[in-house]
Amino acid sequence: MNILAFGPNGSGKGTQGAIIKDKYGLAHIESGAIFREHIKGGTELGKKAKEYIERGDLVPDDITIPMVLETLGKYKDQGWLLDGFPRSLAQAEALDKALQESGMKLDYVIEIVLPREVAKERIMGRRLCANDNNHPNHIAFEAIKPVEKDGKLVCRVCGGELSTRADDQDEEAINKRHDIYYDDKTGTMAAVNYFKNKGDVKVISVDGSKNIKEVSESILKELP
Ligand code: AMP
Repeated sequence: MNILAFGPNGSGKGTQGAIIKDKYGLAHIESGAIFREHIKGGTELGKKAKEYIERGDLVPDDITIPMVLETLGKYKDQGWLLDGFPRSLAQAEALDKALQESGMKLDYVIEIVLPREVAKERIMGRRLCANDNNHPNHIAFEAIKPVEKDGKLVCRVCGGELSTRADDQDEEAINKRHDIYYDDKTGTMAAVNYFKNKGDVKVISVDGSKNIKEVSESILKELP
């Protein structure tokens, strides 16, 4: 099964993606995480992508599209859940074309709907676990608050060290990312609408303002 996950930064898309990929044994492919790995590893691609990511701009398509398509091909037999791509109408069209050419089929599109102001508030409070990016930790939500250990906040799931993402604490970068997401002319919402209008893939739209369990239940009940 191949799935696309859409939702603004801060909508809980990564958390829901982790739940779904575990249930169906899918590869979880996150374009942003692939970039961060490259940056950490000091690769050429990472060096090129870094400046865009720090500003909250999109990394150019000639870097991003081949990187993502190559990764999808690796998991052709396993099936994948793709998160963070496509982020624009042009990327949606490129993905659609590449899937047809490679004989891969898109089975579901998941859209987590969340108002822009709510998404922003959520981003600023989230904390990243050093052991697993998908361990949910957020200083403003009681259910997923980090825990205190030796006077320090640590991951509520595994006790791992917590950090913030630089682009999560930068309001200008957040606003830029949301400008791109909510743009229904050429941005990410245009990509969502592209798949909605195509009509040959089931689009599951859920209300992202609910808690993690409620959101995952409303997604899972639409999946086989
Ligand atoms: P994310 O972890 O999805 O928030 O992605 C972090 C950053 O990586 C984004 O702000 C972009 O700079 C870059 N990025 C991730 N996915 C894409 C994409 N599909 N196209 C261009 N840039 C991307």
